[in-house]
Amino acid sequence: MALVIDAPKIATVPVDGGGEFPVRRVWCVGRNYSEHAREMGHDPDREEPFFFIKPSDAIVLDGATIPYPSMTRSVHHEIELVVAIGKGGSDIDPAKAMEHVFGYAVGVDLTRRDLQNEAKKQGRPWEMGKAFDNSAMIGTISPLAKTGPLDKAAIWIQVNGQDRQRSDVAKLIWSVPEIIGHLSRYVELGAGDLIYTGTPEGVNAVVAGDEMHGHIDGLHDLRIRIAGSST
Ligand code: MN
Repeated sequence: MALVIDAPKIATVPVDGGGEFPVRRVWCVGRNYSEHAREMGHDPDREEPFFFIKPSDAIVLDGATIPYPSMTRSVHHEIELVVAIGKGGSDIDPAKAMEHVFGYAVGVDLTRRDLQNEAKKQGRPWEMGKAFDNSAMIGTISPLAKTGPLDKAAIWIQVNGQDRQRSDVAKLIWSVPEIIGHLSRYVELGAGDLIYTGTPEGVNAVVAGDEMHGHIDGLHDLRIRIAGSST
């Protein structure tokens, strides 16, 4: 069958040890650390996990410089543990969920907070606050075979060398296996799906010229710069 326009290019992410991970969909979990849920004005203890999505072409790789996003005056970093799904499935039993994981990466769920807050106020969808160009930042993927399950690991992000967010993935309200269990009840997960597992407290704005440096113990660091100068 002849395509009438060029096929869109698929986003891929480098893998530690070689090769590239092809990205199918980018799932994100909302409010998955208690202190972040509190800073956003919510009770963290009574909520089921909820999900939103970014387009796969929003992927930005380690070392990139991105333009300051359009239509916003408040772009926030959200440092997150990203899970790369290697084997799809529906109604996945959390006890067997790790069999579906290919690996982990450091990610930043870049957020146009002003647009997200307005959407919340108006009861509108979050996409323009969350699913915009260059909003899914991700570092090199480390295979699970190499890292083992990442149940406890320091997670932090610095901007221009200053601490912004600092926590531990052990503080996830819903663990990685539980998230996979929940999400796969709503949709059939596919190989190539990424899941951004939520951010700890300390989310804050970045401006033109800022350098973000994200880290999770045992994984590859993520460095992204916003183009321009802050003056
Ligand atoms: Mn997030």
